[in-house]
Amino acid sequence: MTSNPTHGTERTDWPERSLDHVWYPYAQMRDMAPPVPVAGVEGTRIRLADGRELVDGTSSWWSACHGYRHPHIMEAVHRQLDVLPHVMLGGMTHEPVVRLGERLAAKAPGDLAHTMFTDSGSVAVEVALKMARQYWDNRGETQRDTFIAFENGYHGDTAGCMGVSDTYRDLRPRFTGLAHEHLTVPLPAEEGPCALERVLAEHGDRIAGVIIEPLIQGAGGMLVHSPKVLRRAADLAQAAGTLFIADEIATGFGRTGSLFACEQAGAEPDIMCLSKALTGGTMAMAATMATEQVFAGFHGDDESTALMHGPTFTGNPLAAAAANASLDLFETEPRVAQAAALEAQLTEELVPLGELPGVVDVRIKGAMGAVQVASDRHKDWMRHRFVEHGVWIRPLGDVVYVTPPLTLAAEDLSRLTDAMGRVVREAFA
Ligand SMILES: *Cc1c(COP(=O)(O)O)cnc(C)c1O
Repeated sequence: MTSNPTHGTERTDWPERSLDHVWYPYAQMRDMAPPVPVAGVEGTRIRLADGRELVDGTSSWWSACHGYRHPHIMEAVHRQLDVLPHVMLGGMTHEPVVRLGERLAAKAPGDLAHTMFTDSGSVAVEVALKMARQYWDNRGETQRDTFIAFENGYHGDTAGCMGVSDTYRDLRPRFTGLAHEHLTVPLPAEEGPCALERVLAEHGDRIAGVIIEPLIQGAGGMLVHSPKVLRRAADLAQAAGTLFIADEIATGFGRTGSLFACEQAGAEPDIMCLSKALTGGTMAMAATMATEQVFAGFHGDDESTALMHGPTFTGNPLAAAAANASLDLFETEPRVAQAAALEAQLTEELVPLGELPGVVDVRIKGAMGAVQVASDRHKDWMRHRFVEHGVWIRPLGDVVYVTPPLTLAAEDLSRLTDAMGRVVREAFA
């Protein structure tokens, strides 16, 4: 019996059983309802175990930018699987990762030419923080041990990331020794005096880097700032002689209406983090990119100045093949124009919801649309109700938002915005 590979799959109680052994993300497990059972995905649809289909409003946490199972990515991954699914990058290399490194360097802002590949966004940020610290250490500026981050910022869930994530502000004291306190300031205004300028003037020689989510602060509440604000943060950091770190894990690959959000501000980060849509939502992969100057700061006579990081699956060939295929699609299909079209339609269909009772604010940037409501107490009910309306939308606290695949058809986007209006009306009637 136990060797039967299909054992258990004919039973239909697996959503309930899952609660016994699968620890779900960000969930109170004691009284969690069974999650929505998914049988398959295709394009912009999520097919449930009972045959129902949902229009996807999430891209599975911003990742499936081309929709699910795009044939071009599928074919590239299948081909790679047959030849070289994995090999270590310690002392060896392979063509897919080389090509990906070259292509990211060609597309990234400024001269971000050198990429360390990892497997999740949080680790890409950990690498960025280590990279910045060691860059200064290699130059003898060992006192630069502090980062500046912004209010409402989020940069991942691992130890170092918690230290620079304002979303962990209240939790950090419970992780003493793991989550180091750095400096947190409000985003600068477009002009006039600001805290960032003041803190840099006062503590500049202690600062290892300034880290920001360009244009959209995601997990902190889908907050949007202007390219001028982003540019000012970059200019202030770089004028003060510290490193400007752009966390484009959510915003990268077209989401904000340009391939990278930094492009809209003409900002050229010293270090940039990528993940989420890097493989088109197919595979876990992340990247930390550095400029020529940062990279050169690690040159020396032996390993003592080398970047001491290397995940087992760094540069995984399957993920690299998926990422290369995803980049092909950005070159051959009009993804960035599609994001702009989604922005126009989101503006037309979501801005009127600002008039509804219970709605506090409506925010749109590129292919991200958010409706902030008066309280988070309906969020679980709303998620359930969205499924009944045939869409997959997962509110974040008091923010009901969509980050759909950039390939979503106009009538399907209307189904999402229509459901948002209905469910918010029902919740706050
Ligand atoms: C999602 C996210 C991360 C963390 O990425 P994971 O892959 O979940 O570890 C970091 N920064 C930003 C801006 C993100 O949106």
